[in-house]
Amino acid sequence: MFEVRYTDLAARIGRLETPHGSVETPAFVPVVHPVRQTISPQFLKKMGFDLVITNAYITFRHYGDEARKRGIHDIIGFDGSVMTDSGGYQVLEYGSVEVEPAVMAQFEKDIKSDIPIPLDKPTGYGLPYEKASEYVRITLENCKKTLEVVGETDAVWVGPVQGAEHYDLVEHSARALDAMGYQLMALGSPVEVMEAYEFATLARMIARYKKAIPAKPIHLFGAGHPLTIPLAIALGCDMFDSASYMLYAKDDRYMQPQGTARLADLAYLPCQCPVCSSYKLDELRSLPKDQKTIEVAKHNLHVLKAEVDTCKQAIMDGRMWEYAVQKARAHPKLMEAVQLFGGSEFEFMADNTPAFKEKAIFFFDPVDQHRPEARRFRQMASAFKSAKKKLVLFPEGEVHPFYSTRGFKELAKKFPDAQVAAYNPFLGVIPAEISDVFPASHNLTSRLARKIDDYPSFTESLDAFLANNSFDEVIVVADDFMKQAKLKARVEDYHSDHVIDRL
Ligand SMILES: [Zn+2]
Repeated sequence: MFEVRYTDLAARIGRLETPHGSVETPAFVPVVHPVRQTISPQFLKKMGFDLVITNAYITFRHYGDEARKRGIHDIIGFDGSVMTDSGGYQVLEYGSVEVEPAVMAQFEKDIKSDIPIPLDKPTGYGLPYEKASEYVRITLENCKKTLEVVGETDAVWVGPVQGAEHYDLVEHSARALDAMGYQLMALGSPVEVMEAYEFATLARMIARYKKAIPAKPIHLFGAGHPLTIPLAIALGCDMFDSASYMLYAKDDRYMQPQGTARLADLAYLPCQCPVCSSYKLDELRSLPKDQKTIEVAKHNLHVLKAEVDTCKQAIMDGRMWEYAVQKARAHPKLMEAVQLFGGSEFEFMADNTPAFKEKAIFFFDPVDQHRPEARRFRQMASAFKSAKKKLVLFPEGEVHPFYSTRGFKELAKKFPDAQVAAYNPFLGVIPAEISDVFPASHNLTSRLARKIDDYPSFTESLDAFLANNSFDEVIVVADDFMKQAKLKARVEDYHSDHVIDRL
């Protein structure tokens, strides 16, 4: 039902099979109103959206039996895959909906939704723990009831994971839904968190979920911002739905890859989509309100689509880290989330990162020490055991692998009985024997002045390497970076009696 084709970080390009065809993920899923459509779903299909989401509750109230007869695809005029939200949003807005979970489940089955969502009770943001816990319990009960009602089915029923910033509730929800047999999960993602750009909270919620359920596809509710999407993709989210393209447009908000702008504040239209290339800025601004909304909404859809496509290409190129960090520069709060990636709760991001990449990976500044390839290499080097009693440390140059360089050959000749190792601020110690292992074999490190205090992972790796071996003598060709390492004291800590800090 879900096949993963390419991965990088926790991001993945996959294929989700539904009764109305397959959907490539990551996918942005535009929200379509079942009754009033300002942009037709067929137009969305032409733009390349194979999956849309609509509201089953509104469909139920507005069409009732007619929808059961015609099916949701005919009602909204879309022949691709249709996901249906069952009213959770209405619960959030108006407190409750007047429909039983079992009735809703049968209705979603009857209208032939491809990806139906059981009636859930979203926790939103800022609910006290007890209350959030109660909402989680109700949602899980509804989900159980729903499966009993629908029985055998081709549809991909969604398990809504609630709990929000109460991370243990997120994990509890995810595990319970997984045990019930749900094959596609959806993370209830509080709009408040995303509107306040609390990306670090969002990243933690996703991480907690991924730790529990790493493999199954996961949808993120309500994510329709060009900054949220790449972060969520890097963390392993596969689908996102939002009405943001239209809501923003109604408010004259123009999406850009690095954020949104008010149409009134723009001096240029910095986009080449079909909308922006057919209007001058003034023309677009002075369109009648309804027409302007539609045009800006179409532009916004182009930006969202381009964002997802750029992420997919980055996954294929093994450049998802570079892209996520590049995006993080667009907003300080996004960088807060990326800074978390070095922590243990984000170790899952390494699991799907390829062990080898054809292109050299880039190291720029301290945040890059957290990238999974570097972490993985440092772990391996830390465990390296040398039979030698003498260590020669040498700064890594630009030629890879290190053992094929002239510098290495000279050192090996001069110190035939020594363990020769290079060092790099991001990779730590690189013993010559494993210098052909990726990414020691394949990286490009910018030659910037660096403060060693910004690279705690380097000193950890160096200490672990020294502790794991028993060198009597350490000879260091110290560059400006290594000179800050207080190597003499360090080496003495590890029982060596002799250190020379230059040749
Ligand atoms: Zn545009």
